[in-house]
Amino acid sequence: MVRWLAFVEGAERLDPWGAVEIKDYDRLLKVFGIRPFKELIPLLSKAGMEPSHLMMRGIIFGHRDFDKIIEAKIRGERVAVLTGFMPSGKFHFGHKLTVDQLIYLQRNGFKVFVAIADAEASIVRKIRREDAIRIGVEEYIANMIALGLDPKETEFYFQTNRGTPYYRLIQLFSGRVTAAEMEAIYGDLTPSKIMAALTQAADILHVQLEEYGGYKHVVVPVGADQDPHLRLTRDIADRMEGLLALERPASTYHKLQPGLDGKKMSSSRPDSTIFLTDTLEEARRKLMRALTGGRATAEEQRRLGGIPEVCSVYHMDLYHLMPEDSEVRSIYDSCRSGRILCGECKLVAWRKLEKLVEEHQRKLEKAKDIAWSVVEVPRF
Ligand code: SF4
Repeated sequence: MVRWLAFVEGAERLDPWGAVEIKDYDRLLKVFGIRPFKELIPLLSKAGMEPSHLMMRGIIFGHRDFDKIIEAKIRGERVAVLTGFMPSGKFHFGHKLTVDQLIYLQRNGFKVFVAIADAEASIVRKIRREDAIRIGVEEYIANMIALGLDPKETEFYFQTNRGTPYYRLIQLFSGRVTAAEMEAIYGDLTPSKIMAALTQAADILHVQLEEYGGYKHVVVPVGADQDPHLRLTRDIADRMEGLLALERPASTYHKLQPGLDGKKMSSSRPDSTIFLTDTLEEARRKLMRALTGGRATAEEQRRLGGIPEVCSVYHMDLYHLMPEDSEVRSIYDSCRSGRILCGECKLVAWRKLEKLVEEHQRKLEKAKDIAWSVVEVPRF
Protein backbone atom coordinates (compact mmCIF):
# COMPACT_ATOMS: atom_id res chain seq x y z
CA MET A 1 0.00 0.00 0.00
CA VAL A 2 1.38 3.42 -0.92
CA ARG A 3 0.96 5.89 1.90
CA TRP A 4 1.49 9.59 1.84
CA LEU A 5 1.24 11.56 5.03
CA ALA A 6 -1.63 9.89 6.81
CA PHE A 7 -4.01 12.18 8.65
CA VAL A 8 -4.86 10.55 11.96
CA GLU A 9 -6.21 12.14 15.10
CA GLY A 10 -5.34 15.63 13.96
CA ALA A 11 -1.69 14.81 13.24
CA GLU A 12 0.06 14.08 9.94
CA ARG A 13 2.42 11.13 10.07
CA LEU A 14 5.19 9.44 8.15
CA ASP A 15 5.49 5.67 8.23
CA PRO A 16 9.20 4.72 8.37
CA TRP A 17 8.39 1.05 7.70
CA GLY A 18 5.88 1.62 4.90
CA ALA A 19 6.04 2.47 1.20
CA VAL A 20 5.83 6.22 1.62
CA GLU A 21 5.38 8.44 -1.41
CA ILE A 22 6.25 12.08 -0.72
CA LYS A 23 5.11 14.57 -3.29
CA ASP A 24 5.62 17.90 -1.56
CA TYR A 25 8.86 18.35 0.35
CA ASP A 26 8.16 22.00 1.18
CA ARG A 27 5.05 20.87 3.01
CA LEU A 28 7.16 18.38 4.96
CA LEU A 29 9.38 21.24 6.15
CA LYS A 30 6.32 23.12 7.38
CA VAL A 31 4.46 20.20 8.97
CA PHE A 32 7.41 18.75 10.87
CA GLY A 33 9.47 21.88 11.51
CA ILE A 34 12.47 20.68 9.49
CA ARG A 35 14.79 23.53 8.45
CA PRO A 36 15.68 24.04 4.77
CA PHE A 37 19.18 22.75 4.06
CA LYS A 38 20.09 25.54 1.66
CA GLU A 39 20.40 28.00 4.57
CA LEU A 40 23.51 26.04 5.67
CA ILE A 41 25.54 26.40 2.47
CA PRO A 42 27.47 29.53 3.64
CA LEU A 43 28.24 27.87 7.00
CA LEU A 44 29.59 24.76 5.26
CA SER A 45 31.98 26.92 3.28
CA LYS A 46 33.10 28.57 6.53
CA ALA A 47 33.91 25.09 7.88
CA GLY A 48 35.96 24.34 4.78
CA MET A 49 33.38 21.85 3.50
CA GLU A 50 32.66 22.28 -0.18
CA PRO A 51 28.95 21.49 -0.59
CA SER A 52 28.30 18.26 -2.50
CA HIS A 53 26.18 18.01 -5.65
CA LEU A 54 23.45 16.40 -3.49
CA MET A 55 23.32 19.55 -1.39
CA MET A 56 23.54 22.01 -4.25
CA ARG A 57 20.77 20.25 -6.20
CA GLY A 58 18.40 20.23 -3.22
CA ILE A 59 18.41 16.41 -2.99
CA ILE A 60 19.52 16.91 0.59
CA PHE A 61 16.75 19.35 1.30
CA GLY A 62 16.38 19.67 5.08
CA HIS A 63 18.03 19.39 8.48
CA ARG A 64 17.53 19.60 12.19
CA ASP A 65 20.39 21.25 14.10
CA PHE A 66 23.07 20.36 11.55
CA ASP A 67 24.24 23.97 11.93
CA LYS A 68 25.21 23.13 15.53
CA ILE A 69 27.33 20.21 14.35
CA ILE A 70 29.10 22.36 11.79
CA GLU A 71 29.72 25.05 14.40
CA ALA A 72 31.22 22.40 16.70
CA LYS A 73 33.47 21.31 13.85
CA ILE A 74 34.55 24.92 13.29
CA ARG A 75 35.45 25.11 17.01
CA GLY A 76 37.65 22.03 16.49
CA GLU A 77 35.42 19.60 18.43
CA ARG A 78 34.97 15.99 17.39
CA VAL A 79 32.01 15.27 15.12
CA ALA A 80 30.45 12.00 14.02
CA VAL A 81 27.87 10.62 11.63
CA LEU A 82 25.80 7.52 12.24
CA THR A 83 23.53 5.55 10.01
CA GLY A 84 22.04 2.08 9.94
CA PHE A 85 21.07 -0.43 7.27
CA MET A 86 18.61 -3.24 7.66
CA PRO A 87 20.21 -6.32 6.04
CA SER A 88 17.07 -7.62 4.41
CA GLY A 89 17.88 -7.48 0.69
CA LYS A 90 20.41 -6.49 -1.94
CA PHE A 91 22.30 -3.20 -1.95
CA HIS A 92 20.88 -0.78 -4.51
CA PHE A 93 21.21 2.81 -5.69
CA GLY A 94 18.87 4.05 -2.95
CA HIS A 95 21.39 2.76 -0.38
CA LYS A 96 24.24 4.29 -2.37
CA LEU A 97 22.64 7.71 -1.87
CA THR A 98 23.15 7.43 1.91
CA VAL A 99 26.65 5.98 1.55
CA ASP A 100 27.67 8.89 -0.71
CA GLN A 101 26.78 11.20 2.19
CA LEU A 102 28.82 9.14 4.66
CA ILE A 103 31.82 9.29 2.34
CA TYR A 104 31.43 13.05 1.96
CA LEU A 105 31.28 13.55 5.74
CA GLN A 106 34.15 11.12 6.36
CA ARG A 107 36.35 13.04 3.92
CA ASN A 108 35.44 16.17 5.86
CA GLY A 109 36.65 14.81 9.17
CA PHE A 110 33.57 13.06 10.60
CA LYS A 111 33.98 9.77 12.44
CA VAL A 112 31.59 7.25 10.83
CA PHE A 113 29.46 4.67 12.66
CA VAL A 114 27.39 2.16 10.70
CA ALA A 115 24.83 -0.05 12.43
CA ILE A 116 23.89 -3.27 10.70
CA ALA A 117 20.33 -3.60 11.97
CA ASP A 118 20.20 -7.37 12.26
CA ALA A 119 17.94 -7.20 15.32
CA GLU A 120 15.45 -5.11 13.35
CA ALA A 121 15.72 -7.39 10.29
CA SER A 122 14.86 -10.37 12.48
CA ILE A 123 12.00 -8.84 14.44
CA VAL A 124 10.37 -6.63 11.78
CA ARG A 125 11.17 -8.49 8.54
CA LYS A 126 11.56 -12.03 9.94
CA ILE A 127 14.95 -12.51 8.25
CA ARG A 128 16.89 -15.55 9.51
CA ARG A 129 19.87 -14.56 11.69
CA GLU A 130 22.50 -16.31 9.51
CA ASP A 131 21.09 -14.60 6.40
CA ALA A 132 21.01 -11.18 8.08
CA ILE A 133 24.68 -11.55 9.05
CA ARG A 134 25.82 -12.70 5.60
CA ILE A 135 23.80 -9.98 3.83
CA GLY A 136 25.08 -7.39 6.33
CA VAL A 137 28.69 -8.19 5.55
CA GLU A 138 28.72 -9.24 1.90
CA GLU A 139 26.05 -6.90 0.57
CA TYR A 140 26.17 -3.82 2.79
CA ILE A 141 29.65 -3.51 4.28
CA ALA A 142 31.38 -4.77 1.12
CA ASN A 143 29.48 -2.40 -1.16
CA MET A 144 30.14 0.55 1.17
CA ILE A 145 33.86 -0.13 1.10
CA ALA A 146 33.84 -0.57 -2.68
CA LEU A 147 32.09 2.81 -3.03
CA GLY A 148 34.93 4.46 -1.13
CA LEU A 149 34.05 4.42 2.56
CA ASP A 150 37.34 4.03 4.41
CA PRO A 151 37.00 1.02 6.75
CA LYS A 152 39.89 2.27 8.89
CA GLU A 153 37.87 5.37 9.79
CA THR A 154 34.53 3.57 10.13
CA GLU A 155 33.09 1.58 12.99
CA PHE A 156 30.74 -1.10 11.65
CA TYR A 157 28.72 -3.07 14.17
CA PHE A 158 25.84 -5.52 14.38
CA GLN A 159 23.06 -4.44 16.74
CA THR A 160 22.93 -7.85 18.42
CA ASN A 161 26.64 -7.67 19.19
CA ARG A 162 26.92 -4.20 20.67
CA GLY A 163 27.27 -4.96 24.36
CA THR A 164 25.76 -4.15 27.72
CA PRO A 165 25.85 -0.31 27.88
CA TYR A 166 24.04 -0.14 24.52
CA TYR A 167 21.35 -2.60 25.65
CA ARG A 168 21.02 -0.78 28.97
CA LEU A 169 20.05 2.33 27.00
CA ILE A 170 17.19 0.48 25.31
CA GLN A 171 15.86 -0.53 28.73
CA LEU A 172 16.21 2.98 30.11
CA PHE A 173 14.54 4.52 27.07
CA SER A 174 11.56 2.19 27.38
CA GLY A 175 10.75 3.87 30.72
CA ARG A 176 10.95 7.38 29.26
CA VAL A 177 8.17 7.18 26.66
CA THR A 178 4.56 6.16 26.79
CA ALA A 179 2.67 3.99 24.32
CA ALA A 180 0.44 6.98 23.52
CA GLU A 181 3.45 9.17 22.64
CA MET A 182 4.88 6.50 20.37
CA GLU A 183 1.53 6.00 18.68
CA ALA A 184 1.29 9.75 18.10
CA ILE A 185 4.61 9.57 16.22
CA TYR A 186 4.27 6.21 14.44
CA GLY A 187 0.59 5.33 14.29
CA ASP A 188 -0.31 1.71 14.99
CA LEU A 189 2.53 -0.15 16.67
CA THR A 190 3.32 -3.78 17.38
CA PRO A 191 5.70 -4.88 20.17
CA SER A 192 8.37 -5.62 17.54
CA LYS A 193 8.11 -2.11 16.08
CA ILE A 194 8.31 -0.55 19.56
CA MET A 195 11.46 -2.62 20.16
CA ALA A 196 12.92 -1.63 16.78
CA ALA A 197 12.22 2.08 17.40
CA LEU A 198 13.86 2.04 20.84
CA THR A 199 16.82 0.11 19.44
CA GLN A 200 17.26 2.76 16.75
CA ALA A 201 17.23 5.45 19.45
CA ALA A 202 20.02 3.54 21.21
CA ASP A 203 21.95 3.29 17.93
CA ILE A 204 21.80 7.03 17.47
CA LEU A 205 22.57 8.01 21.06
CA HIS A 206 24.99 5.35 22.32
CA VAL A 207 28.05 6.81 20.59
CA GLN A 208 27.79 9.65 23.15
CA LEU A 209 28.70 7.18 25.92
CA GLU A 210 32.37 7.09 26.89
CA GLU A 211 32.44 3.33 26.18
CA TYR A 212 31.74 4.03 22.51
CA GLY A 213 33.88 7.09 21.97
CA GLY A 214 31.95 9.88 23.70
CA TYR A 215 30.93 11.64 20.49
CA LYS A 216 28.52 14.42 21.52
CA HIS A 217 28.03 16.03 18.10
CA VAL A 218 26.31 13.44 15.95
CA VAL A 219 24.40 13.81 12.69
CA VAL A 220 22.15 11.18 11.16
CA PRO A 221 21.51 11.43 7.39
CA VAL A 222 18.16 9.89 6.50
CA GLY A 223 15.51 9.68 3.84
CA ALA A 224 12.58 11.96 4.58
CA ASP A 225 10.37 9.02 5.61
CA GLN A 226 12.66 8.20 8.56
CA ASP A 227 12.01 11.43 10.47
CA PRO A 228 9.76 9.73 13.10
CA HIS A 229 12.83 7.90 14.46
CA LEU A 230 14.69 11.21 14.80
CA ARG A 231 11.82 12.94 16.55
CA LEU A 232 11.50 10.10 19.03
CA THR A 233 15.25 9.98 19.65
CA ARG A 234 15.55 13.73 20.19
CA ASP A 235 12.69 13.62 22.72
CA ILE A 236 14.32 10.71 24.53
CA ALA A 237 17.67 12.54 24.67
CA ASP A 238 15.94 15.47 26.40
CA ARG A 239 14.25 13.18 28.91
CA MET A 240 17.50 11.53 30.03
CA GLU A 241 18.59 14.79 31.65
CA GLY A 242 19.73 14.18 35.21
CA LEU A 243 20.61 10.56 34.47
CA LEU A 244 22.74 10.74 31.36
CA ALA A 245 24.06 13.84 29.62
CA LEU A 246 22.82 13.10 26.11
CA GLU A 247 22.74 15.76 23.42
CA ARG A 248 20.00 15.88 20.83
CA PRO A 249 21.25 14.35 17.59
CA ALA A 250 21.18 16.42 14.41
CA SER A 251 19.77 15.07 11.17
CA THR A 252 19.80 15.77 7.48
CA TYR A 253 17.04 14.71 5.09
CA HIS A 254 17.29 13.61 1.50
CA LYS A 255 14.55 13.23 -1.06
CA LEU A 256 13.64 9.65 -1.84
CA GLN A 257 14.95 8.73 -5.27
CA PRO A 258 12.00 7.48 -7.33
CA GLY A 259 12.24 3.86 -8.40
CA LEU A 260 12.58 2.86 -12.05
CA ASP A 261 8.90 1.93 -11.99
CA GLY A 262 7.90 5.30 -10.53
CA LYS A 263 7.28 3.93 -7.02
CA LYS A 264 9.60 3.73 -4.01
CA MET A 265 12.84 1.81 -4.67
CA SER A 266 12.79 -1.52 -2.92
CA SER A 267 14.92 -4.66 -2.88
CA SER A 268 11.71 -6.64 -2.81
CA ARG A 269 10.73 -5.28 -6.27
CA PRO A 270 13.95 -5.93 -8.27
CA ASP A 271 12.79 -3.98 -11.32
CA SER A 272 12.24 -0.84 -9.22
CA THR A 273 15.99 -0.35 -8.81
CA ILE A 274 19.42 -1.35 -10.04
CA PHE A 275 21.48 -3.39 -7.63
CA LEU A 276 25.17 -2.61 -7.61
CA THR A 277 25.78 -6.33 -8.15
CA ASP A 278 23.47 -6.65 -11.16
CA THR A 279 25.15 -8.01 -14.29
CA LEU A 280 25.70 -5.37 -16.97
CA GLU A 281 23.06 -7.06 -19.09
CA GLU A 282 20.53 -6.93 -16.25
CA ALA A 283 21.35 -3.31 -15.36
CA ARG A 284 20.94 -2.30 -19.01
CA ARG A 285 17.63 -4.12 -19.31
CA LYS A 286 16.26 -2.34 -16.22
CA LEU A 287 17.40 1.10 -17.35
CA MET A 288 16.03 0.68 -20.85
CA ARG A 289 12.63 -0.33 -19.44
CA ALA A 290 12.54 2.43 -16.82
CA LEU A 291 9.60 4.80 -16.56
CA THR A 292 10.34 8.16 -18.17
CA GLY A 293 8.64 11.51 -18.51
CA GLY A 294 8.45 11.04 -22.29
CA ARG A 295 5.37 11.66 -24.41
CA ALA A 296 3.21 9.09 -26.18
CA THR A 297 4.81 9.65 -29.60
CA ALA A 298 8.12 10.96 -30.90
CA GLU A 299 6.31 13.73 -32.75
CA GLU A 300 4.58 14.88 -29.56
CA GLN A 301 7.82 14.80 -27.60
CA ARG A 302 9.63 16.91 -30.22
CA ARG A 303 6.78 19.38 -30.12
CA LEU A 304 6.06 19.54 -26.37
CA GLY A 305 9.30 18.28 -24.81
CA GLY A 306 9.55 15.64 -22.07
CA ILE A 307 8.98 16.01 -18.32
CA PRO A 308 12.30 15.27 -16.54
CA GLU A 309 10.76 16.00 -13.12
CA VAL A 310 8.80 12.74 -13.30
CA CYS A 311 11.44 10.71 -15.15
CA SER A 312 13.31 7.97 -13.26
CA VAL A 313 16.19 8.04 -15.76
CA TYR A 314 16.69 11.76 -15.21
CA HIS A 315 16.74 11.10 -11.46
CA MET A 316 19.50 8.50 -11.97
CA ASP A 317 21.47 11.21 -13.83
CA LEU A 318 20.75 13.79 -11.15
CA TYR A 319 21.53 11.63 -8.10
CA HIS A 320 24.31 9.33 -9.33
CA LEU A 321 25.49 9.55 -12.89
CA MET A 322 26.22 13.21 -13.61
CA PRO A 323 28.03 15.02 -10.79
CA GLU A 324 28.90 17.80 -13.27
CA ASP A 325 26.14 20.42 -13.28
CA SER A 326 26.73 21.35 -16.92
CA GLU A 327 26.00 17.79 -18.03
CA VAL A 328 22.80 17.36 -16.08
CA ARG A 329 21.59 20.82 -17.10
CA SER A 330 22.19 19.97 -20.75
CA ILE A 331 20.04 16.80 -20.42
CA TYR A 332 17.31 18.77 -18.65
CA ASP A 333 17.23 21.49 -21.31
CA SER A 334 17.38 19.00 -24.20
CA CYS A 335 14.51 17.03 -22.70
CA ARG A 336 12.35 20.06 -21.98
CA SER A 337 12.82 21.48 -25.45
CA GLY A 338 12.19 18.16 -27.21
CA ARG A 339 15.70 18.07 -28.72
CA ILE A 340 16.35 14.62 -27.28
CA LEU A 341 14.08 11.57 -27.23
CA CYS A 342 13.99 9.00 -24.45
CA GLY A 343 15.79 6.21 -26.34
CA GLU A 344 18.83 8.38 -27.00
CA CYS A 345 18.70 9.87 -23.50
CA LYS A 346 18.67 6.41 -21.93
CA LEU A 347 21.74 5.47 -23.96
CA VAL A 348 23.59 8.53 -22.61
CA ALA A 349 22.68 7.41 -19.07
CA TRP A 350 23.61 3.82 -19.84
CA ARG A 351 27.14 4.72 -20.94
CA LYS A 352 27.67 6.40 -17.55
CA LEU A 353 26.00 3.61 -15.61
CA GLU A 354 27.95 0.88 -17.40
CA LYS A 355 31.26 2.53 -16.45
CA LEU A 356 30.16 3.06 -12.85
CA VAL A 357 28.91 -0.53 -12.38
CA GLU A 358 31.97 -2.07 -14.07
CA GLU A 359 34.40 -0.10 -11.92
CA HIS A 360 32.39 -0.75 -8.77
CA GLN A 361 32.25 -4.49 -9.32
CA ARG A 362 36.01 -4.65 -9.88
CA LYS A 363 36.51 -3.01 -6.45
CA LEU A 364 33.80 -5.13 -4.86
CA GLU A 365 35.71 -8.39 -5.21
CA LYS A 366 38.55 -7.05 -3.07
CA ALA A 367 36.11 -5.31 -0.69
CA LYS A 368 34.31 -8.60 0.05
CA ASP A 369 37.55 -10.05 1.46
CA ILE A 370 38.06 -6.96 3.62
CA ALA A 371 34.42 -6.76 4.81
CA TRP A 372 34.52 -9.86 7.04
CA SER A 373 37.59 -8.52 8.83
CA VAL A 374 36.24 -5.06 9.74
CA VAL A 375 33.24 -6.12 11.82
CA GLU A 376 32.75 -8.43 14.75
CA VAL A 377 30.24 -11.04 13.70
CA PRO A 378 27.60 -12.17 16.24
CA ARG A 379 28.19 -15.71 17.43
CA PHE A 380 24.61 -16.78 18.10
S1 SF4 B 1 14.30 12.58 -22.68
FE1 SF4 B 1 15.50 11.74 -20.99
S2 SF4 B 1 15.05 13.02 -19.24
FE2 SF4 B 1 13.49 13.43 -20.79
S3 SF4 B 1 11.80 12.10 -20.23
FE3 SF4 B 1 13.03 11.01 -21.75
S4 SF4 B 1 14.51 9.79 -20.59
FE4 SF4 B 1 13.63 11.31 -19.22
